[in-house]
Amino acid sequence: MNPVFERLLANGPVVTDGAWGTMFLAMGLRAGEIGDLWNLTHPERVEAVPRAYVEAGSQVILTNTFLSNRITLAAHGLADRLEELNRTGVEISRRAAGGRAAVFGSIGPTGKLLVTGEVTETELEETYREQTRILAEAGAEAIILETMGDLGEAVCAVRASRETGLPVVACMAYSSGRNKDRTMMGVTPEQAAEALTEAGADVIGANCGQGIDGYIEICRRLRAATDRPLWIKPNAGLPELVEGRPVYRTSPEEFAAKTVELLEAGAHFVGGCCGTTPEFIRQVAATVKQWKARKNAG
Ligand SMILES: [Zn+2]
Repeated sequence: MNPVFERLLANGPVVTDGAWGTMFLAMGLRAGEIGDLWNLTHPERVEAVPRAYVEAGSQVILTNTFLSNRITLAAHGLADRLEELNRTGVEISRRAAGGRAAVFGSIGPTGKLLVTGEVTETELEETYREQTRILAEAGAEAIILETMGDLGEAVCAVRASRETGLPVVACMAYSSGRNKDRTMMGVTPEQAAEALTEAGADVIGANCGQGIDGYIEICRRLRAATDRPLWIKPNAGLPELVEGRPVYRTSPEEFAAKTVELLEAGAHFVGGCCGTTPEFIRQVAATVKQWKARKNAG
């Protein structure tokens, strides 16, 4: 196993962070506004988010760079800020971590589809190579691709990320199909685990897309399909729109209680995606601590 993960996993399951977008919305981010731009315009607000997660018990925090690839930034007229956005994203998270948590550089889907020919594999690899090189140079300890729907794009992202020499976490979002066990593009956990492991991802994961109940079975299926450590970050349930804003109904208590089932299903890294807050992470961290104590006693 990669030394970064070996160190993190030496004492059992690891607590990651919770949602960033949810926190930004609460701080005044407007719908349609690109949250990554806050790295330059409101760095103090951005830094407050990972800082709150570290204080709540996160051992790994991400960076506010999910959208900062050239294709997505160009769609918002921000391509010329690419280097600055990624570099400051890592710097902000490193300041917030202050050596108390590992910082993983976050990358997300480009929004362009391989199947329709809007983008080629070569273009995707170039795009991710450019972004992950900057994240690595700025001091990210691993690269994490999140909320991927298309396996072809995820594999391109893994290949490009590996060129940095950093370990790679590869997460797909399972939100579709009758049993909500497929990505938006119809990929199953087994297909994802096989292709991402083959592409060289060090950790295989799932995030966003649905609440924690559905991710327990997806975690079991990923566990059966790969020998890599697993990373799971569910949402706080499915959102309901209230006055145009998403509201998530799962409580931190319910979420933390279900986290035990994720650990039993073989998850090594647990945290939350949309709708989760530092209070969720505080309760998840307490749950993980109790679970470890029980395992050690038994
Ligand atoms: Zn999410």
